[in-house]
Amino acid sequence: MLARIIIGLGISIVCFAIAGRRFWWLSRLVRTGKEAPRRWGGWGRVAEAELTEVAGQRKLLRWTVPGTAHFFTMWGFMILLATIVEAYGALFSRNFHIPLIGTDNWLGFVEDFFSTAVLVSLVVFTAIRVKNAPARKDRASRFYGSHLGAAWLTLFLIAMVVVTLLLYRGAQVATGHFPFGQSKWAFASHVVAVWLRPLGTGVNSVLEAVFLLANIAVIAGFLVFVSYSKHLHIFLAPLNVGFSRRPRALGGLDKTPDMDMEHVTEDTVFGVGHLEDFTWKQMLDFSTCTECGRCQSVCPAWNTGKPLSPKLLIMGLRDNLFASADRLLSGEGTAEAGTLVGGVIDPDVLWSCTTCGSCVEQCPVDIEHVDAIIDMRRYEVLMESRFPTEAGLLLRNMENQGDPWGLGSSKRTDWLSALDFEVPIVTDEIPDDVEYLYWVGCAGSLDERGRNQAISTARLLKRAGVGFAILGQRESCTGDPARRMGNEYLFQEMAKANVATLNEVKARKIVTTCAHCFNTIKNEYPALGGDYEVVHHSELLNHLVATGRLTPGGSFAGKVVYHDACYLGRHNRVFDDPRGAISAVPGVERLEMDRSRERSFCCGAGGARMWMEEKIGTRVNSDRAREALATGAEYVATACPFCMIMLDDGVKAEGREEVRVLDIAQVLERSLADS
Ligand code: SF4
Ligand code: SF4
Repeated sequence: MLARIIIGLGISIVCFAIAGRRFWWLSRLVRTGKEAPRRWGGWGRVAEAELTEVAGQRKLLRWTVPGTAHFFTMWGFMILLATIVEAYGALFSRNFHIPLIGTDNWLGFVEDFFSTAVLVSLVVFTAIRVKNAPARKDRASRFYGSHLGAAWLTLFLIAMVVVTLLLYRGAQVATGHFPFGQSKWAFASHVVAVWLRPLGTGVNSVLEAVFLLANIAVIAGFLVFVSYSKHLHIFLAPLNVGFSRRPRALGGLDKTPDMDMEHVTEDTVFGVGHLEDFTWKQMLDFSTCTECGRCQSVCPAWNTGKPLSPKLLIMGLRDNLFASADRLLSGEGTAEAGTLVGGVIDPDVLWSCTTCGSCVEQCPVDIEHVDAIIDMRRYEVLMESRFPTEAGLLLRNMENQGDPWGLGSSKRTDWLSALDFEVPIVTDEIPDDVEYLYWVGCAGSLDERGRNQAISTARLLKRAGVGFAILGQRESCTGDPARRMGNEYLFQEMAKANVATLNEVKARKIVTTCAHCFNTIKNEYPALGGDYEVVHHSELLNHLVATGRLTPGGSFAGKVVYHDACYLGRHNRVFDDPRGAISAVPGVERLEMDRSRERSFCCGAGGARMWMEEKIGTRVNSDRAREALATGAEYVATACPFCMIMLDDGVKAEGREEVRVLDIAQVLERSLADS
């Protein structure tokens, strides 16, 4: 008995010390990061996050087979904590059991059920890994670039935890020291006991001690392995999820940095140029990555041959963080360390992102990729003046003319000439009979295809008797492309000017037709003093249809497939309204693409990519257009002018001019043509 106490505790103390040292090192490293904004949302939010993401495995279960296997493995480890208590107790007394519940049959059953479930899950994981064996070299695989060797070792160690446990329990049954007696509820242990019993009580007594120590050694060794591997997520994921932005790190960007020049000193750093410019939460993000590749598999940049993989980006930052630990922990400056972009991160990686948010949506441990990418873009643009050449024209146009195309404010009301009624242009306070201020947006005002969307929307609002007005020439770009490009200064200049105008006219309710304007005014203007009730035209139109103020007619018929705009759907959860508005048209047969709603594939325009050349790989909009065409649709419907422009180009590039790309307002308006 003394020997097994000494061996068991000796192994444990050594392993716990090594792992504890590693976790302490990691916590110090993460705490070298800068302060992170808005990280504490109260215990309620933390509980909700832990219950849904960690305990409920919400995101993992979207992938049914691996998700279910992971669910049982994770819960297996939670339940098997009881067996660890039993094992350490058994070091001191062969008849040890957990007080109060330790001999209950249900506990024996639950422990054996999850032991078996973990073993079955490991078989599933092994099958997935074997199937994906060439994955590291296959760009289409989500495991491309992951450390597969470590994954195999992990599967082996988890298997050993369960195998040694069941052998130990089987020997306990055979020697009569099993806490649950001879009850068959602990079914797996009894099966093992059937195999071991013929060896006799003496041999089983030895095996009981050997497998007990083996079980403790594997658990303690696994702890050390985890602390040095990507399986750190076993411990870090609950922390990372608990501190994540709720309900998700999408919509508005995390930070609104202070760009006031009065506060700028020579030490001020805008964005992230070096590791130490990241916040502690971002460092925790990097450390938590499981290398599962779910983000990579849905990334439009990666899927069209660009060098950006959100997984490889996060892994690269993590590896660099760990490699730079000595420098960061010693507080040495950045003099020797080059900037991240151009060093650790290839510029083409950084500039390929469309900020679509698919990676954030899929990440099971709530890593916030988009915020990190924008932070690095901010440094590149504001500190280094490095960005794709063609984006310079975009920024100049926005700065000088107030719109990305550089057409100027005088053209903003040209689209009104297509209407046979007057639209009030607000010059002073918005009159009481005007319910909505219609924020037309640059594309709606200035682009030919975008104007069709604005014209149809205006006609529908008029028809439904909704009082609305526009700002006309006083409207300018919301600043979204500048912000997503990293030019926070320009964004804030434009945003503050718009907020001043909106507050001056006393705007209360704003309707937008552009998903990007919707997101920016709704989610980002409040931080700059602009609080309004913002609705997207898809929400308003669907409401007007649902309340009988608009009754779609029979002049439009055909198969329509709807494309979710990233900034309307994934970023702001408006999925049902546009579909509702389309489905309300009697002659419409509405189709769905495989990748829709939360999983929708980007059109390629976001993140200011609309104004950058796409020189690497295939075109994102062509990929999406092909997917839409494959449904057999005669019409592709969108609810964002940028998506409309990109998909229209994509459909035409496929030589399918007969397939029309329309905004949902155009679909509704066409249905009313004869009424
Ligand atoms: S936001 Fe979209 S494009 Fe950018 S890394 Fe994530 S998935 Fe890729
Ligand atoms: S960032 Fe998230 S989704 Fe991507 S590989 Fe890491 S854990 Fe998986």
